Amino acid sequence: MAAPRIVRIAILPFGMVNCHLIIGDGGCVLVDAGLPGSEGKVARALKRHGLTWADIRLIVITHAHVDHAGGAARLRRLTGAPVLAHCGDLAYYQQLVPMNFCSTGWFGRLFLRTGLILQPYEPFTPDILMAEGQVLDLSRFGVDGVVRHTPGHTAGSVSMELASREVLVGDLIASGILLGGLVRTQHAIRPPFEEDPQATALALQRLVDAGMETFYMGHGGPLPAAEVRAHARKLRRLG
Ligand SMILES: [Zn+2]
Ligand SMILES: [Zn+2]
Repeated sequence: MAAPRIVRIAILPFGMVNCHLIIGDGGCVLVDAGLPGSEGKVARALKRHGLTWADIRLIVITHAHVDHAGGAARLRRLTGAPVLAHCGDLAYYQQLVPMNFCSTGWFGRLFLRTGLILQPYEPFTPDILMAEGQVLDLSRFGVDGVVRHTPGHTAGSVSMELASREVLVGDLIASGILLGGLVRTQHAIRPPFEEDPQATALALQRLVDAGMETFYMGHGGPLPAAEVRAHARKLRRLG
């Protein structure tokens, strides 16, 4: 299979909130669904690349925060594609319990107070529910790569690892300032919220050790492996 193309879809401008379209030999995979109501932005990105809803063969949701999972139910109806996500975040996808937010600094605390991140979204049950530690091959969806369980940002976070040594990690790491993006996008930061920094450090280090070279993320990015390795080291020092 040829290396897939990664297209960044701006859900908010300046890289503040991204989702990504992976255009592979045999089909497309949408990674994250953006905030509720993001379908127009996804539709425009598809059109720019000569694609339609029917070309999306799979929707991967990296974790249950509203800026990644909020549009999933609607995008599933529009594309007819199955939604893949991890069981660790299932109760949040189904909106059965309120999400837990561990702020990483003043911006996270302030952002939490705005209520934006707490907004409910249309609940859904993933069609493909990944189990603890599971690795799922994506070749049947037309893309040479796997989805791997990479807990840390949330218990059910997953990353999409491509054979081209590019990886889409959701919010395991961010870059830029505040929410992420805007400026200094070559500089790694912690996202505003993070459940378990040590698990995050381990997951990032494993991806670097596995030979991943370019990291795409929900806020800011992309980042080279050296910057990710240095960030994982800083997280480990938090103890
Ligand atoms: Zn998040
Ligand atoms: Zn996010």
